[in-house]
Amino acid sequence: MPQTVLLTGASGYIAKHIAVQLLEAGHLVRGTVRNLSRGAEVADAVRPHLSDTTDLDSRLTFVALDLNEDDGWDDAMADIDVLMHTASPFPLAQPKDEDDLIRPAVDGALRALRAAKTAGVKRVVLTSSTVAISGSQLPSGDTSFDETNWTDPTDREVNAYGRSKTLAEQAAWAFVRDEAPDMALTTINPAFVLGAPLDQNFGTSIRVIERLLKGKDPMLPDVGFGTVDVQDVAALHVRVIEKPETSGQRIMAVDGFYAFADIAHAIKSAYPNRKIPTRIAPNFLIRVLGLFDPDIKAIIPNLGRVDKYDNARAIATLGHGMRQAPKAAVSSAAYLIDNKLV
Ligand code: NAP
Repeated sequence: MPQTVLLTGASGYIAKHIAVQLLEAGHLVRGTVRNLSRGAEVADAVRPHLSDTTDLDSRLTFVALDLNEDDGWDDAMADIDVLMHTASPFPLAQPKDEDDLIRPAVDGALRALRAAKTAGVKRVVLTSSTVAISGSQLPSGDTSFDETNWTDPTDREVNAYGRSKTLAEQAAWAFVRDEAPDMALTTINPAFVLGAPLDQNFGTSIRVIERLLKGKDPMLPDVGFGTVDVQDVAALHVRVIEKPETSGQRIMAVDGFYAFADIAHAIKSAYPNRKIPTRIAPNFLIRVLGLFDPDIKAIIPNLGRVDKYDNARAIATLGHGMRQAPKAAVSSAAYLIDNKLV
């Protein structure tokens, strides 16, 4: 049945893909943006990907909301069936004050949930992250991360972004448990998300591919990430509202763990004439550089780390296997190259 979905952070890279898939599935989307002037930009990004654009102005509408402000949340929630909360700051560099990330993530999630409860919205999908699952070491004896694992937000090696996502997701589960037990919450926990963006206002994950394609770094650090195609991430957000049995679940969206060098090799194979680093920098060099560069320092705990992820729940929810993340990396690169952004 068509649902009216409040999609927070509609100007985001992932949210624009979610908007396309919601509209294609026949749902109505009320997107939140910080400034209403961004609404037209989001509609322009989404429109070319729709099979039917009839009445788009009434099927995709916008309201202005800020995660840090109380204004507007109750009005935004009127006549909404599903809250899909994707908005959360995701910067490339970690801020000096970690509260710049933690406050909007945690307070924003709680603002959204409180307004949903007041309006009687019973279905909520929250975009969390694998950083809320795999930020700390696996318990001894376990071989792969799954939805039962939690990042320890007090772990000193967890960065501000990881802490913001973990605390926001924990706050959401606690809110539902303690204050809204009849609210059906599902979290989607994506790994590093790749795939062609819908417009040039793309987020941090595509910036990583942009940096790779600019060829300024002569070598790559020995790090890797759980990685996933943005289309699977968007599909999971949409699929769970059609599957009540996913209520109460965390669903980790990940194809698998890929070394940064695997991603670079996939792009280099597609674009052999471009200067793309594929050699691995020695770990001691990264440690020395980390003394001077806070962005490099942030990856030091992950040097040499190889993780495994159990994606059975995501596959069962989607009803098919995950798209291959290296192909999503190549699609991201193709978008940047075709649009002459690198
Ligand atoms: P993005 O393009 O940066 O989108 C973030 C969205 O949050 C934007 O719409 C942004 O609005 C909004 N936002 C940030 N601070 C806000 C505030 N104070 N008030 C209102 N809106 C605010 O990033 P993304 O990659 O699509 O990420 C979307 C969600 O997925 C986030 O929750 C992120 O943590 C999660 N996630 C992303 C990845 C990934 O690899 N991309 C992986 C796992 C989880 P503006 O456009 O106005 O800045």
